[in-house]
Parts: sequence; structure tokens; C-alpha cells
Amino acid sequence: MLDQIIEEAGNDNHKPAFVKIPKQWLPGFIRWPIKLFLLPFIWLDVLAQAIAKALIRPPFKKVGACKKRGNCCHYILIKKSKGFSDKLDLFWHTQINGFYRRDKALHEVDGMKIHLMGCRHLKKDGTCGIYHFRPMICRMWPRIEYFGQPQILKGCGFRAEKR
Ligand code: SF4
Repeated sequence: MLDQIIEEAGNDNHKPAFVKIPKQWLPGFIRWPIKLFLLPFIWLDVLAQAIAKALIRPPFKKVGACKKRGNCCHYILIKKSKGFSDKLDLFWHTQINGFYRRDKALHEVDGMKIHLMGCRHLKKDGTCGIYHFRPMICRMWPRIEYFGQPQILKGCGFRAEKR
């Protein structure tokens, strides 16, 4: 089912199904200091990864540009963790990152259980409402790693090319 959703989302005229977005119950005066505290660590992580990739190049490189279709923010795939850590993950993604569950169902991709989420910060013009404060998961997308195939959604303005 998730494959079908993602496949359809890749079509140019795709409109995501309406989802009633639940309110975040964690107040902003708690959420934002946590985000600000973590920001330098996110920058350091991004910098370390950029240096590592400059020194040892992955087999693929990212080319192209964002088309601002918003699909990577409408369809965020979060791997389900085991036991209580899944509850913590869900808390983190929904209350700190600002994501919401598009449905309560668990989806399956390559044998993994997946939560399908959207993001409250996506603006109508397809841009990010908290660009400079966006979470790590957003900064790392599309995923082009050393091993495995690059992960890019169908219809995305980016593509992966072999070096
Ligand atoms: S935080 Fe920004 S980049 Fe990340 S999913 Fe939300 S709108 Fe997209």
C-alpha cells in the first residue's frame, strides 16, 4: 500500500489526501529551547558528514534541484523501533520535529515496519517554514550513502548519478 501511495505521489498532478493535523500538545516554550539547544549538534553532524564525504566520496552524487513539490515533507517514512523506544521516537517526531502521523496504520517496506508521517511546517508554496531549524532527517534527504541504492522519491527534482 505504501509503495502505491509513493508511486502516485510521484505524478505531477498528485494532491496528497487530506489529513486532519492534530495539535502539538507540547508547548512552544518547551519545544523551541530544545530545538535551539540541539541546533549546534546538528550543524556539527552535518559538517562532519560533509567532511567525510569530501574525503571519501560515496559512489553516487546528488544532482538537480528541489522542485518544491513537498512530497518529501508530505511522506516521511520513519522506521518503527522496538518497544518503548518507538513511543519515544513518536514523541520526538511529533512533538519536537513537528511531524504528524498521516494514518495510524503501520506500513511495510523491505520487511521493515514504517510510520508514515507528514510535517506541520511545510508551507503552501512547498517550502519549509523552519528551514534553518529543520531536523537532521530533513537535512539528510535525499539519502545518498556509501552503501545501498540512493533513496529519492519519484518526481523529485534531485537525482543520483554515478561518479
Ligand atoms: S521541517 Fe521543513 S524540510 Fe523538514 S519535513 Fe518539515 S517542512 Fe519539510
